Amino acid sequence: MQGGSVTGGGKARHAEIAGGGFAGLATAVALRQRGWTVRVHEKASELRAFGAGIYLWHNGLRALESIGALDEVVANSTRPPIYETRVQNRTVSREKLPGMLFRVMTRQHLHGAILAAARRAGVDIEVDSEVVSADPAGAVTLASGQVLRADLVVGADGVGSAVRDSIGFAQDRQTSRDGITRLLVPRLKDQLGPGEWDNVIDFWNFEPRVLRVLYSPCNEADLYLALMAPSADPEGSQAPISLALWAGIFPHLTPVLEAAAKIQGRYDRYQTTVVERWVRGRVALVGDAAHAMCPALAQGAGCAMVNGLRLAMALEGGAGGVGGGDAAADRSVPGAVSELCGDAGDVEGQSVHAGGAGDGAV
Ligand code: FAD
Repeated sequence: MQGGSVTGGGKARHAEIAGGGFAGLATAVALRQRGWTVRVHEKASELRAFGAGIYLWHNGLRALESIGALDEVVANSTRPPIYETRVQNRTVSREKLPGMLFRVMTRQHLHGAILAAARRAGVDIEVDSEVVSADPAGAVTLASGQVLRADLVVGADGVGSAVRDSIGFAQDRQTSRDGITRLLVPRLKDQLGPGEWDNVIDFWNFEPRVLRVLYSPCNEADLYLALMAPSADPEGSQAPISLALWAGIFPHLTPVLEAAAKIQGRYDRYQTTVVERWVRGRVALVGDAAHAMCPALAQGAGCAMVNGLRLAMALEGGAGGVGGGDAAADRSVPGAVSELCGDAGDVEGQSVHAGGAGDGAV
């Protein structure tokens, strides 16, 4: 179905997308829904999501609905009844967050649902296909040396984007002093003792050291544990986790921390990116390639999908847009995204408020 170069003349317009993560696949579906032919290049040899669990808020859920993946996501995800915050193991707030749409799920489940939508939509997906550079005139070069032309090139290749860096978008990238180990473990509710273990529970500890555990049920079987520590804390940031340290500070979580300590895991420092523009010629950036943000916002994937959807919407109708005029595309894409992400800003604000603490401590 895909052509290497399809440019107007009544034929479907063609997009080459770097990256088979949430952003790349969601963008691919949104473009296919609008008549584009689309090929996604994923450098890994299998399509999968790295990490453990993930939160989606109403903007991300609306994007999933639009690409036809919402029902599958909802089927094996959860909306915890209460967002509870504990400081030094004492409950300081219990928020029901009425009217606030959010769901928690495993990353693999979310990725699988979007991938299924992409396959249904007829997106062409190539694994072991690494994009090494892009050309604003409308081309990508693969690691194999092959050059593929397109009406639209999408850089959805994550925080270390080769598409972005090959074109030299002006950018500010930062690595935080804090980081996280993310793990999926069994729920083990019956071993956890008294407590409301279907809630999200945000455990903050400040004394004798700064450590945080975000306890997030994903479904009946899986629990997402996010263990946060400053990178300057060698024991807090070691992988596998130090059971003595974490269970000593959070004794109520001992059974699930025991399960976590058996997994190799990986400690990652947070990285953020601010890029001056998201479009150059026929190349557009979406997702972490464009706006890798602080993970405490729990918005990166949600905004990435909205971002891809709005890119496809901005290009609906054919004329102009990416390649038809930089200025028009520059105005329409980030403007439209920030309009939707503005809703998300409210959600973030309430979430941080409910948690009783910002993200500055860890
Ligand atoms: P990625 O997920 O990084 O996907 C990029 C894909 O491109 C990968 O498959 C990669 O293999 C591939 N690739 C890379 N380079 C190339 C190349 N050169 N050629 C071809 N393929 C390539 N967001 C939320 O919405 N909710 C949350 O709760 C949340 N929690 C988070 C917690 C933590 C600790 C972190 C670090 C992030 C969190 N995020 C969350 C953010 C979210 O994970 C990211 O914003 C999201 O994964 C970005 O998706 P993406 O598709 O842009 O990039």
